Amino acid sequence: MDANQFREAAHAAVEDVIKYYESLGERRVVSDVSPGYLRPQLPSGPPQTSEPFTAIQRDIANLIIPGLTHWQSPNFMAYYPANASFPSILGEIYSATFTAPAFNWLASPACTELETVVLDWMCELLGLPECFLSKGEGGGVIQGTASEAIVVAMVAARERYLRNKCDAEGLEGEAREARMSELKSKLVALGSDQAHSSTQKGALIAGTKFQSVPTKMEDNCALRGEEVRRVIKECKEKGLEPYYLTVTMGTTGTCATDRFDEISKVVGERGEEKDIWVHVDAAYAGAALVLDEYKHFTKDWNAFDSFDMNMHKWLLTNFDASCFFVKRRANLTHALSINPAYLRNTFTDSGLVTDYRDWQIPLGRRFRSLKIWFVLRSYGIEGLQAHIRKHVGFGKLFTSLLQSRKDLFSITTEPAFSLNCFTALLDTNEVTKEVYERVNQHGEIFLTSTVVHGVYVIRVVTGSPWTEEKYVRRAFEILVQVAEEVLSGKED
Ligand code: PLP
Repeated sequence: MDANQFREAAHAAVEDVIKYYESLGERRVVSDVSPGYLRPQLPSGPPQTSEPFTAIQRDIANLIIPGLTHWQSPNFMAYYPANASFPSILGEIYSATFTAPAFNWLASPACTELETVVLDWMCELLGLPECFLSKGEGGGVIQGTASEAIVVAMVAARERYLRNKCDAEGLEGEAREARMSELKSKLVALGSDQAHSSTQKGALIAGTKFQSVPTKMEDNCALRGEEVRRVIKECKEKGLEPYYLTVTMGTTGTCATDRFDEISKVVGERGEEKDIWVHVDAAYAGAALVLDEYKHFTKDWNAFDSFDMNMHKWLLTNFDASCFFVKRRANLTHALSINPAYLRNTFTDSGLVTDYRDWQIPLGRRFRSLKIWFVLRSYGIEGLQAHIRKHVGFGKLFTSLLQSRKDLFSITTEPAFSLNCFTALLDTNEVTKEVYERVNQHGEIFLTSTVVHGVYVIRVVTGSPWTEEKYVRRAFEILVQVAEEVLSGKED
């Protein structure tokens, strides 16, 4: 493809993108293809000779789009959203254009420097404590996902724990190595029973144990300080070494927020033994921190070690853009920096530049700060606030609709950050499951469900950029219709 062919194809592709977004409301939100639908429609191998863009474009329309779940659809109210936006798509075009696996400063200085700037902007926008800014000992870095951020935090936590213990015991050389392996086998990562599964997976990858800390329905599934204290004590009694804890702002199941005030005290109480790395996972709900009314959540985070939120969930930025902040960047570089000869350069040696390869798992990295920069500049703080406020408003509207039909639905956990969780009356798991399954079979909206402390609940998230009030009301109408059908069937 030469430049002229690219110009023609790119214009046509942009037209396709616009048409796709304009038609989203009319498309069935979940694909109805059967497993294995694609292979029989494709040739058995790549073509021997070049094909024109128009042929590829045709197959996008005929073969790919029918097999998509439309996450940008206003009728997508499942999981958590994966917001995209036009400014962000433009950022991705430039990022692809400049393609540079910019692992260190020298590999493309603008990639590193823009990332540091936009993450400082994000830190201030979200109202995080100053200790997470790059001007001190902290700083932010873009990770692919919240799960990656957790793995990185856990490995840094593990290494910090081992280093501090061995330093305190004055061990060196072989004795230090031996003590490290002995301690490693006892390390245990903690997270509430509502924490995302990535904490358990992270522990697996970090080669440590995992222990879940119970929450209760009567606490709205929030992790309490008392339980953390009890589980730490129990672990210690068993000879285990708790070294890491995930606390969550907006759990995956019900969007519960842990009691940061209580937990910060428990961690603080450990005095000299302040050895547990606390990571705040705010993958979805962290976006709400753009609003002043939610900033009080951050007041105890000085006591914590790292924080992560996904702009690619609810903040108008295409996947992937997970903003990860640490209080002491040296903890990342101590754990993850390896310096083979082929990566050495005078800038790195000078210590004056940041090499983000030492803050993450892979070496190469995409120019992801561009799309964040485009989003921040295109919407401005006011635009982002209006976006979140609108969705929180839709969540409240949905709550009031549920409350207007107490004969059909019962709210299970406090609605939060545009998520509502509820059961269908007769309040049995079977009935709720049947309502949920029939709604998704209906096909106009897409919801997900979960089980919280043994209760089967339906989740409705009103956080897609294209959702409008009429779609929220229509989703409720469908739920009412289906619930009435199911319940009348049970009464017969
Ligand atoms: N943490 C929370 C609270 C989540 O809700 C999710 C996903 O929904 C994750 C972590 C995992 O996110 P990612 O796909 O970015 O790893």
